[in-house]
Amino acid sequence: MDCKYHDNKKANWHCTNCDISFCMDCVELETRAVAPRCILCRTHISRLTISDQVEPFWNRLNHFNAYPFQAGAKSFLIFYSIAALVLGFLIDVIPLPLIGLVLRLTLFAILVSYVFSVLSRTAKGNFAAPKYDQTITYDSDGMTVKVIVLFIILFLLGVGIVSSSGGTGLVIYQAAIAFFMPSILVTLGMSKHLSSALNPRHMIGTIVSIGFPYLILVGFAALINFSLSFATGFIDTWLPDPIVYFVSKTIEAFFYIILFNMLGYVVYQYHAELGYGVDVEQLATNENIQMKPELRALAHADVYIQEARYDDARDQLYKAGQSVKHQEEAYSKLIKLHIATKNDSEMLNAARLYFENPELHLYGFNAWQTYQQIKKIEPRYRPANVNGRLVLIKQIRNKALRSELIYLTEDLEQKFAHDPVLPEALLAEVKFYIDVEHDDATGLSKLQGLLDNYPKGKHRLESEELLKALQH
Ligand SMILES: [Zn+2]
Ligand SMILES: [Zn+2]
Repeated sequence: MDCKYHDNKKANWHCTNCDISFCMDCVELETRAVAPRCILCRTHISRLTISDQVEPFWNRLNHFNAYPFQAGAKSFLIFYSIAALVLGFLIDVIPLPLIGLVLRLTLFAILVSYVFSVLSRTAKGNFAAPKYDQTITYDSDGMTVKVIVLFIILFLLGVGIVSSSGGTGLVIYQAAIAFFMPSILVTLGMSKHLSSALNPRHMIGTIVSIGFPYLILVGFAALINFSLSFATGFIDTWLPDPIVYFVSKTIEAFFYIILFNMLGYVVYQYHAELGYGVDVEQLATNENIQMKPELRALAHADVYIQEARYDDARDQLYKAGQSVKHQEEAYSKLIKLHIATKNDSEMLNAARLYFENPELHLYGFNAWQTYQQIKKIEPRYRPANVNGRLVLIKQIRNKALRSELIYLTEDLEQKFAHDPVLPEALLAEVKFYIDVEHDDATGLSKLQGLLDNYPKGKHRLESEELLKALQH
């Protein structure tokens, strides 16, 4: 579907309040906002059919697998495996079980803080792996303790189930954990609250929001767990304990990074359904949207004009006109707007701004068209500056427009005697007589007058060459 206001632009956003679909340029992006706003009614708007816009997670397996090889993740894995190696040796040489437990927990805490930062970062749309030093301080939310408490709760539940319903109950319980784990981890990673993560309403809510693809997610998570146990199964247990520890911990970290990257991406893909915010700036980067405020202002003006909200449109056009690059487009739209709304004095004000554009020479043809439109309302109009006149004079390439040329040039010398651009405008006039009218006599006399009155300046070289050519 295309944007209602821009024919060739895909509509990514929909305002339920106005029932209008917008392109990314048409919506209002605020830094750190959870969602863009509708510029017509100012309510937060939602994404149109997510799967249509964001690449679905089941198509991104190769991205997830490549994630641990990104520079940030690689540096973390190196740091983590060295830590595993050192701690493994310490556990081996220190015979005290309590110290061994503390060392194991330390390593666990490092991994937990890293993978949860992978999750929340990816969920916000940032697909670059974090560096390990960015995550050492991450555990401020006490994620390690929460994960441990989570495991203890799940373990105790399992013990309870085994004692009441035996082995069959345990198999069903394990299957249920495998099924609900992605939802639990996503909620824990995003809300940082164990109580929400274990709240059955939240668990079911997450699954319902994602819908059928949740089963694919469970399948992928199982696949990653299977790969993990498959890979660690190859480790020769005859090796010394610290080496086994080091290798198995490294493999574990590798696969958990993939899993948490995938969980994070699922949140990103379903952020509207799940109710999590995505950094809109990040979204714009991922979707290759130019965040140029002037271009956005022009797009917003289109919306307001079509909705007959002319004051808002005018504000946007003034905003866009602040950049020289977009001035021509912005002010010509502003002129048309004031013509359409029959606001003549504002129109003349916009015309003045339009012709004051220092880069108007890049838009000669447009400037001529705009000039004609202004004259339909104000037949006596002519730009009140030399540069604007110069751009127009250069557009006159037809004998029939002689009176136009005269009107644009007749008062130049008396009105703008000290304008540095004046000689250029006079030279353009001379060229009309020579090139268009083939009236060399008038051209020659005007040219000599020009060189006598203004012997210095940018126009001199060209004028002298023209003079030589005429005298031959
Ligand atoms: Zn649009
Ligand atoms: Zn709206």
